[in-house]
Amino acid sequence: AHLDRVAAVDGDLHAFLHTDASASLAAARAIDERRAAGETLGELAGVPLAVKDVLVTTDMPATSGSRILEGYRSPFDATAVARARAAGLVNIGKTNMDEFAMGSSTENSAYGPTHNQWQHGRVPGGSGGGSAVAVGAFETPLALGSDTGGSIRQPAALTGTVGAKPTYGGVSRYGAIALASSLDQIGPCARTVLDTSLLHDVIAGHDHHDSTSLRHEWPSMAAAARDGVADDSLRGLRVGVVRQLMLDGVQPGVKARFDEALALLTAQGAEIVEIDAPHFEYAVAAYYLILPAEASSNLAKYDSVRFGLRVTPDGGGTVEDVMSATREVGFGAEVKRRIILGTYALSAGYYDAYYGSAQKVRTLIQRDFANAFAQVDVIASPTAPTTAWKLGEHAGDPMQDYLNDATTIPANLAGIPGLSLPVGVAEEDGLPVGLQLLAPAFEDARLYRAGAAIE
Ligand code: GLN
Repeated sequence: AHLDRVAAVDGDLHAFLHTDASASLAAARAIDERRAAGETLGELAGVPLAVKDVLVTTDMPATSGSRILEGYRSPFDATAVARARAAGLVNIGKTNMDEFAMGSSTENSAYGPTHNQWQHGRVPGGSGGGSAVAVGAFETPLALGSDTGGSIRQPAALTGTVGAKPTYGGVSRYGAIALASSLDQIGPCARTVLDTSLLHDVIAGHDHHDSTSLRHEWPSMAAAARDGVADDSLRGLRVGVVRQLMLDGVQPGVKARFDEALALLTAQGAEIVEIDAPHFEYAVAAYYLILPAEASSNLAKYDSVRFGLRVTPDGGGTVEDVMSATREVGFGAEVKRRIILGTYALSAGYYDAYYGSAQKVRTLIQRDFANAFAQVDVIASPTAPTTAWKLGEHAGDPMQDYLNDATTIPANLAGIPGLSLPVGVAEEDGLPVGLQLLAPAFEDARLYRAGAAIE
């Protein structure tokens, strides 16, 4: 049924970059046969899963939304995908994304944009717009995404779906095509908080292939979500509202839905506490130095020799000519912009002024969170300051995209978990609004509990 749905609607939406219906059907039938043979399978066995194209799998190509990886196929599965397969989930396709996960609208994909399922011609957010729309348009019940600065949470908000960024190190990054390694985190997307928690449980846990993977006994996120719907589950919960996250640019309809969500929390016994995080106003600036710096290093491996595309200049040339011709054609404008920014920020003479300062700001933001979480259990904010904008509306002005990340970025700089869930639509445009909940590192379960309570 999901493959039929993809065939019917994805021509318009373009949530998927690769599908292989017959292979997916065969995988689903194999699960049916195991069940028929009396094997006890997990509760997600046979459920379709869409996979952001940033994760490598053996059964389909992986491009990370870039021309430079066109035709690339991995010899191994990303750990999150391997764990999903072991639980019986069936990969039904790879989803569209901004090139190398750089962007907030999925318009930076080298393969064309994804349309928001709420309104053709509107962006789905990014970078994981494909996964969010696939879930929101009922093409799949579950999807995987990656969140380096909001790429799971912000598209969830703009498409009226749910998405979680786990604690940094909670889910293995093995097989995730790296953007900025100190910020990247793999996480689940779905239509409900409970569905999201079920996928979270499947993919979480230590992996020796990822040196930053945490050795931690994670409690069941699904159990927390199920607890959340019980009466009184929010009694005594202290919810922080950070002044600096209530940006001047917040759209009126977003603010209205957020205030309503706070009222709902209060009605269920939570206590709202206003808090200050004085360094959050520098988060976007710090992020857009740290991310390009790390990305410029991670993307150096696309040299035309080891992976994907190779462009040889007319009449041949040296190895360097081939590399530069390949990178010229293979990378899009935003990727080039960030590589140039990153190499500049890391260069001798500028390192202390830019990268070094940004790392200091990152520490101050981590301290702001530590101070905040000494006073509250969770932090609430709008996930994004606006609803979905029109395709092309931010063209030529990347700053507008960057500013849309102001609410999601602080969590990545601090490595803490975040969840976005839908809280209705804005009156002015009828488009969905997301509520973001943040918790201290390791306290992901708290988000599912509170999220399920107010869903
Ligand atoms: N909008 C952010 C950026 O462009 C999101 C990145 C991400 O989470 N992958 O960097």
